[in-house]
Amino acid sequence: MADEIQKTVIIGSGPAGWTAAIYAARANLNPLVLTGDGACRERMPGGQLMFTTDIENYPGFVDGVDGPKMMDIFQQQAERFGTRVKNTYVNKIDLTVRPFKIWHINALGDEGESMVQAHSVIISTGAKANYLGLDSERKFENNGVSACAVCDGALPRFRDVPVVVVGGGDTAAEEAVYLAKFASVVYLVHRRNELRASKIMAQRVLSHAKIKPVWDTVVEEILGTDTEGVNAVKVKNIKTDRLETIACRGMFAAIGHTPNTGFIKGQVELNEKGYIVLKEPFRTFTNIEGVFAAGDCADSIYRQAVTAASMGCKAAIDAERWLCEKGIH
Ligand code: NAP
Repeated sequence: MADEIQKTVIIGSGPAGWTAAIYAARANLNPLVLTGDGACRERMPGGQLMFTTDIENYPGFVDGVDGPKMMDIFQQQAERFGTRVKNTYVNKIDLTVRPFKIWHINALGDEGESMVQAHSVIISTGAKANYLGLDSERKFENNGVSACAVCDGALPRFRDVPVVVVGGGDTAAEEAVYLAKFASVVYLVHRRNELRASKIMAQRVLSHAKIKPVWDTVVEEILGTDTEGVNAVKVKNIKTDRLETIACRGMFAAIGHTPNTGFIKGQVELNEKGYIVLKEPFRTFTNIEGVFAAGDCADSIYRQAVTAASMGCKAAIDAERWLCEKGIH
């Protein structure tokens, strides 16, 4: 494969990557998807949705669908049109040469490092939600712990019960307001005594009858049982060291996201948070001609499966048109 020059290589296999593959394959670009090798959470083929259950807001799934199932369906649809798939993790890329060079490994296999060359690349490597890093947080993930209110907030388990949101930025503010539609009360636990969120969002949160800020406080442990999931969080006031238990049925971490863009740093323009900078509104162009970006690695705002998929579609169309302009068929 190293000698063959690919028309389009798609890096990443979440909704953006698979949708790009469906469109690229149907445009005869014979795409190759490098999915991730599954060696750890960040390298999981299928991306963040592999850790999500009950996706109820993706159009077309009337009864909802769980994340791994959805990614399996997307992959099958991409393969139906001839997409080639390699379970491998991109560890290095050279975008200063043409064709581009992409090195990849499968830490779970015994092939060693390989290299693939490509005329165009679609980067759809996603972003990971930041968690607090507590053992109990992992234990209750999908059982009361979440990092996405829009994804999980409407689930029956969070209705008319208290929930906790951790963080003080725009995401935390948005999540708190969103969850207040369903929960009986939302405790907004923040490590400082003022919000970092924009003025308008902060005002909305602080004036909301169902949102109660808990200032200068960090979550120390999430409590619950295997059967009922989360039933409380243990928190500490960092000014007084006072410990307290807040009864709640959910804890939403809203402390930012980290885009999976380390491997392109210094080549593709990133913003101060590491998200890929798109050079034109509504398009998927990066600062490098022939390199396109789609999904959460280039979107700090929406971060939904459906918005990632739509960006994947746009990236494949942009790649196809660019290849055509360059006379690469
Ligand atoms: P953010 O602005 O980086 O805020 C993260 C928050 O989490 C901060 O309040 C931070 O506390 C807290 N935090 C970080 N690590 C923590 C830890 N280990 N334990 C406890 N708390 C921790 O992230 P974001 O809210 O996701 O927003 C990211 C960007 O997207 C921002 O530019 C934001 O404006 C933008 N955004 C915009 C919208 C919108 O316009 N509708 C919606 C969402 C996001 P400190 O304050 O103490 O640092």
